[in-house]
Amino acid sequence: MKYCLHCDWHTSATDEPSARTRSRAAIDHHVETGHTIDSSDGVVPPRLPDVPTEIFVDDLIPSSD
Ligand SMILES: [Zn+2]
Repeated sequence: MKYCLHCDWHTSATDEPSARTRSRAAIDHHVETGHTIDSSDGVVPPRLPDVPTEIFVDDLIPSSD
């Protein structure tokens, strides 16, 4: 499953069986909107925790040091 961190855009195998098409759709959404797409291949769709978006995004970015 791929999903947008900024709006409710998402795509999954249920919506689109082709992984290649899902990747293309995610890239298109990023190009069109500048939004960040995250993805998870897990069975359970990821759920945003009840924290501010900034904190959640920071948690996803690996520290470089
Ligand atoms: Zn979006």
